Amino acid sequence: MHLSPETALDFLEGRLENGQETLWKQHVEVCGRCSAYLSGWKQFLTTIKRSHLKSPTEQTLERAVHIYPPESEELVPGLRCVLAAVIFDSFLEPDLAGARGASTDMRQLILQAEEFDIHVQIWDEGGQKQMLGQMLPRNPEHLTATAWFHLLRNGKRMESMAADELGEFHFSDLPEGALSLQVDLPNLTIIGALNV
Ligand SMILES: [Zn+2]
Repeated sequence: MHLSPETALDFLEGRLENGQETLWKQHVEVCGRCSAYLSGWKQFLTTIKRSHLKSPTEQTLERAVHIYPPESEELVPGLRCVLAAVIFDSFLEPDLAGARGASTDMRQLILQAEEFDIHVQIWDEGGQKQMLGQMLPRNPEHLTATAWFHLLRNGKRMESMAADELGEFHFSDLPEGALSLQVDLPNLTIIGALNV
């Protein structure tokens, strides 16, 4: 039994019962997989809290600059495409939303496809919807620096950016409409609906 995204989040935010917390503490000490998974989560939460207070950094802005992929960027035959499932949505967890205080207007989503968890946070900042996320592979060795994230509206590509070395991405001023996220990996494309 390894850490699930929900347990990792509860663990880091101190919501586990004492017995559970001790058990997982011991487990993380001996399980490299869960220890790396937890670090990824920790990093993610730190990033969210940090960027919540500040404007995006120059670097983030630079990464978020619009990139227009060439016309020929259609799915290559043989390239696999999978749909991500939403396995966690804070809007559907009233207890959690309450426990996070001011977070009622911050939405946290976890999408999952194959061995990847995609953590997404969406919030309103001065009337503009911001989205920050990170892709975490279950196996940290599979962390890929060559992921591309695309924001789609009604299936059409609105904005694209490359992941940084932590697999993070940030889109600001989200448009209205049916949004989804597309992640292009070297041999896999993941698409997940965000239903903002
Ligand atoms: Zn484990």
